[in-house]
Amino acid sequence: MSDPNAGYDVVILGGGSGGYASAFRAAELGMSVALIEKDKVGGTCLHRGCIPTKALLHAGEVADTTRDSETFGVLAEFKGVDVAAINKYKDGVVAKMYKGLQGLFKAHKVEIVNGTGRLVGPNTIEVDNGQTVTGRNIILATGSYSKTLPGLDIDGERIITSEHALNLTELPNKAIVIGGGVIGAEFASAWRSLGVEVEIIEGLPRLIAAEDADSSKQLERAFRKRGIKFHTGKFFEKVERTATGVQVTIQGGTVVEGDLVLVAVGRGPVTANCGYEEQGVQMDRGFVLTNEHLQTNLPNVYAVGDIVPGVQLAHRGFLQGIFVAEHIAGLNPPVIDEAGIPRVTFTEPEVASMGLNEDKAKERYGADKIKTINYNLVGNGKSNILKTQGFIKLVAVEDGPIVGVHMVGARISEQIGEAELIYNWEGYASDVAQLIHMHPTQNEAIGEAAMALAGKPLHVHD
Ligand SMILES: Cc1cc2nc3c(=O)[nH]c(=O)nc-3n(C[C@H](O)[C@H](O)[C@H](O)COP(=O)(O)OP(=O)(O)OC[C@H]3O[C@@H](n4cnc5c(N)ncnc54)[C@H](O)[C@@H]3O)c2cc1C
Repeated sequence: MSDPNAGYDVVILGGGSGGYASAFRAAELGMSVALIEKDKVGGTCLHRGCIPTKALLHAGEVADTTRDSETFGVLAEFKGVDVAAINKYKDGVVAKMYKGLQGLFKAHKVEIVNGTGRLVGPNTIEVDNGQTVTGRNIILATGSYSKTLPGLDIDGERIITSEHALNLTELPNKAIVIGGGVIGAEFASAWRSLGVEVEIIEGLPRLIAAEDADSSKQLERAFRKRGIKFHTGKFFEKVERTATGVQVTIQGGTVVEGDLVLVAVGRGPVTANCGYEEQGVQMDRGFVLTNEHLQTNLPNVYAVGDIVPGVQLAHRGFLQGIFVAEHIAGLNPPVIDEAGIPRVTFTEPEVASMGLNEDKAKERYGADKIKTINYNLVGNGKSNILKTQGFIKLVAVEDGPIVGVHMVGARISEQIGEAELIYNWEGYASDVAQLIHMHPTQNEAIGEAAMALAGKPLHVHD
């Protein structure tokens, strides 16, 4: 039984997106909150993930724009890349946001306990600084780490993870990326923009394989055009260090050489040595299992973020954190629909999606009950102005709502908001077709796709 006299209302282990969101919401709801963090609050997303990678990608975008400036009649000269200055810019963004976040902790009166914590009872975390912190409710939010595979010994120089890749002091001439999922594809894209030769090796049949097949195809086409090489449906066989770099043998015998290998084969849960198993928390391959209210099998012990099976995204952690705080407060928040969590791969071009891809929609509703439209951005004014290619694909149930939105194009991630509302509010194509979309924006392309799906196409090119 949980101890009703335990110290805090809520004690959180881990101060990343999931942990701090639950802390802030619980504090807003009047609860006393302590959060234990062994490194810096903000976690992976702020310090080693979302924010620094997007800064790197933006530097890449500036490089591409400078290189292509003549296309727009502007005569700028691309002289090269200053890695130290890029790092300064990137680290500056992180530092500013870190400072802001620390201010929010103060404003919410959440107590930060510095140290490595361990669950030692259903209400208790023991911290390696000697403190024991107790709470009526415990939220586990210890996040994730970069995984590797047998034969890929990370040395931080020639064989690196995304953490190392964000702190390079010089760029490689040639990088080999093992793993063509979101993280691998984003680094490949940023590095290519910054002048690096890139070759990706992906075991699954396509890049960003969790996305709709059409999105993968469009990204692959764009990568080919940009000179990013890739091998899909092929696993690496071995990686050897050479005098000057690395040599990777791919299944089938092809050998590729480069200065370094980025290992981007997914993220594993940080749950070892946290006391979870010892306390009897139900786990599966290192992930913490929960019910739909994010409760573990231990009373009053919850889990949020990357340690819970599902898409590993910062905003999922935020949402889960808020959900748990509200659940503890008895507000009965609606259960989170995992398919209703937006996904973006911030490559050039960007890939964004909501809901089900075509294959999954057909599995769920039956192939003959699904209709789709693939609206080519060639008919969209703003996309022509930006000189980007791509599409908006809508997947809808026959006489029913839109259950999937898939988008590819430069800057298209900014359109995810409407896609999110369409999916989560179960919008029909005919509903969306009636809304007015600002001209000329890429947002119009969503309206045009809905109009086409509703049987009244306007600017559609075959
Ligand atoms: C390269 C990269 C790019 C990414 N880009 C995006 C993106 O663009 N958009 C997006 O939504 N997501 C992105 N992500 C994913 C996102 O970073 C994660 O989904 C998110 O950080 C998960 O939040 P979390 O709270 O579960 O864990 P984390 O952010 O990993 O935080 C866990 C925290 O717990 C602490 N901790 C762990 N164990 C202990 C312990 N025993 N005691 C005390 N403290 C402990 C850690 O120090 C850490 O601060 C990216 C990830 C990477 C690696």
